Amino acid sequence: MTASTFKTIEKPAIDKFDVTPNLDRDNVREFDWQDLYSELDWLPGGGLNKAHEAIDRHANGSKRDKIALIWEGKNGEREDYTFGQMKEETDKFANVLKSLGIETGDRVFLFMDRLPELYFAFFGILKAGAIAGPLFSAFGPDPVKDRMIDSGAKVLVTQPDLRRKIAGIIPELFDLQHIIIVNKDGRDPAPIDTQDLDYYAEMGKAPSEFSIVNTSQYDYSIMHYTSGTTGKPKGAVHRHQAAVQQYATGKWALDLHEDDIYWCTADPGWVTGTSYGMMAPWTNGVTQLIYEGGFRASAWYEQIQKHKVTVWYTAPTAIRMLMKAGDDVPKRYDLSTLRFTASVGEPLNPEAVVWGESAIGMPFHDNWWQTETGAIMCANYASMAIKPGSMGKPIPGVELGIVDDNFEQVPAGVDGNLVVRPNWPSMFHGYWNNSSMYNSRFKGGWYMTGDNARVDEEGYFWFVGRSDDVINTAGHLVGPFEVESALIEHPAVAEAGVIGKPDPIAMEVVKAFVALNDGYEESTQLRNEIMRFVREKLSTGVAPREIDFIPSLPKTRSGKIMRRLLKARELGLPEGDISGLEED
Ligand code: AMP
Repeated sequence: MTASTFKTIEKPAIDKFDVTPNLDRDNVREFDWQDLYSELDWLPGGGLNKAHEAIDRHANGSKRDKIALIWEGKNGEREDYTFGQMKEETDKFANVLKSLGIETGDRVFLFMDRLPELYFAFFGILKAGAIAGPLFSAFGPDPVKDRMIDSGAKVLVTQPDLRRKIAGIIPELFDLQHIIIVNKDGRDPAPIDTQDLDYYAEMGKAPSEFSIVNTSQYDYSIMHYTSGTTGKPKGAVHRHQAAVQQYATGKWALDLHEDDIYWCTADPGWVTGTSYGMMAPWTNGVTQLIYEGGFRASAWYEQIQKHKVTVWYTAPTAIRMLMKAGDDVPKRYDLSTLRFTASVGEPLNPEAVVWGESAIGMPFHDNWWQTETGAIMCANYASMAIKPGSMGKPIPGVELGIVDDNFEQVPAGVDGNLVVRPNWPSMFHGYWNNSSMYNSRFKGGWYMTGDNARVDEEGYFWFVGRSDDVINTAGHLVGPFEVESALIEHPAVAEAGVIGKPDPIAMEVVKAFVALNDGYEESTQLRNEIMRFVREKLSTGVAPREIDFIPSLPKTRSGKIMRRLLKARELGLPEGDISGLEED
């Protein structure tokens, strides 16, 4: 990806926002976050709570009757909630948790589709001082089990269909005390199991006023599990103070203004869906659309038209799918309300940035961050010329670097490890139960992001790739180990190696190489059966899209599967140094 083939997109000069420091200035390190902390409302007792900053400060002020949430259900249902109503619903849920004995620091997990009740429960959890753990509703039983066991969650809020999907793992969740079932509009005909609690019945009994627990800015608020190369996914824990960076980047990187209608297409099971599908718009008092339905090009354009969306934050795979659907589809809709579009999660190819200009009248503004950073770190701002293919420049108050393996900064134009100077406000503050893994991410005075990148002479950052074996499929990180572990649970599979195979739409798809146990023969039927087996355990997005049978897997002398070699062979690339390869 080079800048030379795509012209820089110049921007007209625009006014700087009230709270925005001069984003054009070179030395962003002079910026002082303290200035922005004073823009938060803080709790009467001097503490900080994300729910207060996102909901109550508006409900208690002039935005009480302003619409916070426009919900469109998958069957076309519509519900609107003002900040005042959001306060009431979230207060009630906090009271439900209190009545169940939930205390500061307890983990309460959410395994739900994008229903308004997911958002009420989420902020109710924060108000009660507990830690919210949202899980992607497409997950199969295994990822839910791993995350629930590791976090020791005491309460699970879910839906009838999703509860049935994971029924088999419930007896293994020894810390779980309560399951709260949301049967939205009685969508599910089966009665709620007597051992579970009915969300609406509990909410009906709960008082509608709650005094938020006086959490400090350093208390934990949210945890999201993220995949690494080895071991199971790790729970990255965030503190309430992340609110300040989510608030600031809502203005700087997403250009949020008072009268916007904002739509973030990410699911709250992933960090974008909480930091930018909850915190950024609502700390800025902005109305946002939550669309429960899945991806369909025409349905998405229709959402923009119908709800008069002005700011749209989406992901490269979705943009590539929109491109594939054709340029004539957006022409059938009135998209004239759109004013700013942004993208995150994977590399945004320059063609997609430029396509935005021709098809919807404006380029997509790429930005970079990750679960651990909690908020946007590098962005193409509204006020900045876009170099298509670049992730933009670091936000004020954040120092990014490109270093070699000795942690020395490399010159502009040279590839290296993308690193961040620690202690930005939304920095994660631990991997749950895994301090050694957490500590291993900080080296030579930097936080190691796991990405490779380079910076050009003008300070624009360019993504190069991952420095580990983690797969990014459609913007979701997949740890190869997790898929390999599921594969070898199938009786036919002796060993398995998993790689990311390049894909024109999803960037990478999961590909597995499998060696069979004695007594099993390769066949299409067996391949399909293994794929189905993993899909049901994990989820469709994570299960291998392709499986190749091979006699044995290349391993190092210490027995580690050489995924790098599998990938090189798959792509027809040089195999590199294979001196550590096991000799059979
Ligand atoms: P996650 O922690 O699941 O949000 O994934 C974060 C990872 O996604 C980053 O470490 C990158 O590898 C990738 N990523 C996120 N944003 C971008 C971007 N704008 N360009 C390239 N890769 C990205």
